[in-house]
Amino acid sequence: VETKLPKVGTTIFTVMSQLAAQHGAVNLGQGFPDFPVPARLVEALTRAMQAGHNQYSMMTGIPALRQAIASKTARCYDWMPDVDAEITVTSGATEAIFNAIHAVVRAGEEVIVLDPCYDCYEPAIELAGATAVHVALNPQTFAPDWDAVRAAITPRTRMLMINSPHNPSGAMFSAADMQALIALLDGTEIILLSDEVYEHIVFDGARHESALLYPQLRQRAFVISSFGKTYHCTGWKLGYAIAPPALSAEFRKVHQYNVFCSFNPAQHAFAEMIEAEPEHYETLGAFYQDKRDRFRAQLATTRLKLLPVPGGYFQLVDYSAVSDLPDLEFARWLTQAHGVTGIPLSPFYANPPAGQRLLRLCFAKNEATVNAAVERLSKL
Ligand code: PMP
Ligand code: GLN
Repeated sequence: VETKLPKVGTTIFTVMSQLAAQHGAVNLGQGFPDFPVPARLVEALTRAMQAGHNQYSMMTGIPALRQAIASKTARCYDWMPDVDAEITVTSGATEAIFNAIHAVVRAGEEVIVLDPCYDCYEPAIELAGATAVHVALNPQTFAPDWDAVRAAITPRTRMLMINSPHNPSGAMFSAADMQALIALLDGTEIILLSDEVYEHIVFDGARHESALLYPQLRQRAFVISSFGKTYHCTGWKLGYAIAPPALSAEFRKVHQYNVFCSFNPAQHAFAEMIEAEPEHYETLGAFYQDKRDRFRAQLATTRLKLLPVPGGYFQLVDYSAVSDLPDLEFARWLTQAHGVTGIPLSPFYANPPAGQRLLRLCFAKNEATVNAAVERLSKL
């Protein structure tokens, strides 16, 4: 068949996880926790299934979960979305990103993405017949260059996609970035897609600058999150999108014919969990900060140079003192020769910066996994 996605192969996450399995490597590549989900959540899920919540849910998500999301949003961002008109439960953030793009972006239009960016963005844009316009983040700090974003806007620009805390770098937008973003979008029709899946994994007392905090942004935005990141259950594939009523209505047209509804038992489990333990959101940062700090202290004894990690659960390391291999080759070599798997950065770019020697390591891991990885990395 003539492919619709000539640039797309198998994702780097699958490629590296398979390679890790093949070589018995410690897998710090694909981002997923290797420790258990909260016992209470598993109990709630089991109970939901035993209670018979095994058929289709409401297309938009069960009311109790949408209510819990609304309350949680009010708690975190001092603003409450409308339970019926502005919240849609989805099968992970991936489905929400796909729906948002397909709901509003037409063939021939442009979507600005900031490189490096998560790998599901561009294929969804291309399937909509649109073009991804890549604007580079700062190669050292991964901060946005708002002048460059402004210069990339054309009459065809339909959407701007942002992601803070950022995958793969962990960089976070500042309050000044949000003000620059407001000024940039003011007077345009550009829709914002704010990918905030790591919203609660923030460190050192920093505030996550959600688009929901700013009326000028949330009135034109799809804000997307994922329970997979917040509750250590990436395989459950449950997330949600918050958007104004008119945008949510278009979003739901895609959602209802994409999946119709998401896994019903998990919706019940999260509704219960959010109500029962609202403080989870405030404690998650400290939980991961502890993991980050231990990981960094251990890595400091190796020849890898550590970049700062303001948020998220990935550590970028500069390996140029160890090897001059390009990152894809280095990631393969590290797996094969040293039994540790990370994710190279170049698949996150349309045009990877020449000579960049960075690898992404996931620290959402238990102590034994990290110890095993660091022991191997210290032999580099
Ligand atoms: N966006 C970003 C930035 C991510 O890192 C991920 C997960 N790795 C997703 C979206 C997708 O989230 P989900 O697994 O809920 O589909
Ligand atoms: N979001 C995860 C990461 O960045 C990967 C998810 C996936 O494998 N699609 O590692």
